Amino acid sequence: MLNRQRSQDRRYGIERREFLRYLASVSAIPAIALRADGQVTEPPQFNSNPFTLGVASGDPEPDGVVLWTRLAPQPLHGGGMPNEAVQTRWEVSSDEAFANVVRSGTALAMPQLGHSVHVEVDGLKPDRWYFFRFHAGSETSPIGRTRTAPAVDVMPDRLRFAFTSCQHYESGYFNGYPHMQQEDLDLVVHLGDYIYEYAGQDKRPRKHIGNEIESLDDYRTRYAQYRLDETLQETHRLFPWLVTWDDHEFDNNYANLVSEQDGISPEEFLARRMNAYQAYYEFMPLRRRSFPHGPHMKLYRGCQYGRLANFHILDTRQYRTDQPNGDNQKPMIGKALDPQGTMLGSKQEHWLMSSLLQSPSTWNVLAQQVMMAPLNRGEGDDHRYSMDQWPGYEVSRRRLLRFFHERKIPNPVVLTGDIHVNWVNDLQLDFQNPRSPLVGTELVGTAMTSGGNGGNVIPEYERAAAQNDFVRWYNSNRGYVSCELTPTAWTTHFRVTPFVDKPGSPVTTPASFVIKEGHPGAKQA
Ligand code: FE
Ligand code: CA
Repeated sequence: MLNRQRSQDRRYGIERREFLRYLASVSAIPAIALRADGQVTEPPQFNSNPFTLGVASGDPEPDGVVLWTRLAPQPLHGGGMPNEAVQTRWEVSSDEAFANVVRSGTALAMPQLGHSVHVEVDGLKPDRWYFFRFHAGSETSPIGRTRTAPAVDVMPDRLRFAFTSCQHYESGYFNGYPHMQQEDLDLVVHLGDYIYEYAGQDKRPRKHIGNEIESLDDYRTRYAQYRLDETLQETHRLFPWLVTWDDHEFDNNYANLVSEQDGISPEEFLARRMNAYQAYYEFMPLRRRSFPHGPHMKLYRGCQYGRLANFHILDTRQYRTDQPNGDNQKPMIGKALDPQGTMLGSKQEHWLMSSLLQSPSTWNVLAQQVMMAPLNRGEGDDHRYSMDQWPGYEVSRRRLLRFFHERKIPNPVVLTGDIHVNWVNDLQLDFQNPRSPLVGTELVGTAMTSGGNGGNVIPEYERAAAQNDFVRWYNSNRGYVSCELTPTAWTTHFRVTPFVDKPGSPVTTPASFVIKEGHPGAKQA
């Protein structure tokens, strides 16, 4: 770790001491932000509804969840709140009419955090629905619905969840969400690219407000624009979410301290990353354990659904080494095989391995960003792999798959976003040996909108689907993925929305796959 840090410092030609001083200075900011030394406005007066961004919940545990809201009468114009702390009240009820309130309390909406509110409720019962709402002054939020996780020692009959990623606003309407809302789900999992950082462009189905986002206000306005989408806001209102980010929550294809663009100093880069991470925390239903410290934020964490499923939520951006050989498609040689190359960073990798070893659950789910199966996209003998995905970190990738195999980790299922098309992949211990044992299964969700209408022929991917034996299915449409887990089988339905350039697409299910407990690899149902 130290050596790597030193070599990074050398690369940027800056003194390590200077760099550490910089980190210390930016890391102090959120500590100040947490102190409520401003005046508390009570009761607050609002000229218009402060709950424009709705409510959300997330990170469920058997005895509680995180409840979220944000006071923003003018969400696209800096929020429209006074620069003061505001008292809110919250209530959790077992019924939608709030006749039976089981927990309640107060929470401060702080100006330093954009008047967002994160409440970690405990004392709830496992595996059941609850309703919640916030009050500020005489205003009341919409009623949210959430669900706790089952008790850790119980084997539930089933778990249903949907996962999605990559919702570029300008590419279209979030047409999958209204259909997701109709499903009988316990949970929604988001694998990142929740926002995109780019400037607004004309002649697209929708338009980002403003330029490429860099300041804290820029990021806040971008999240507000996305969350004002009714279909997205409503899906947050109805289900608890487990979220992780990919690259576009900050900057395309970034790695650790390295920007996609050349010539950005680490100081500028980290200052922007601090803004991006803070806005992400502010808008997501995350626990205090994920509170950002300057340009650092710990998002990897676990979430257990009894003995049925264990989610290992990963962050493959913040700690990885720079993409080897450039971000593009390259042969798997040189730096791609560097034993120092890491996708997770050593701390996260150790945490993942120990939480897999201790997992009492039948299904071990890795909720993460980039494709793990080594997809050869080259032509003929010219084998090429994406250096932004796990094959660019081939030693890390092999170490993890060998770990699945040697330590007999029960039923690893890798969920992947990022790439805007669906893949179903067998994960082989050694992809160069056709007789190699299967050690896991990878389900790649397509984009909610990124890439536009879809269903088109993408020659590179058609070729890749044909020439990689581990690929079980490929699809270029937009949509989301719906999963039903039982103690004996995992059934996946791939949902497709045929268009996203207008609202109101129907939904189809072009394929369903089943993974049998104890038998890695998915079979078409
Ligand atoms: Fe994306
Ligand atoms: Ca991405």
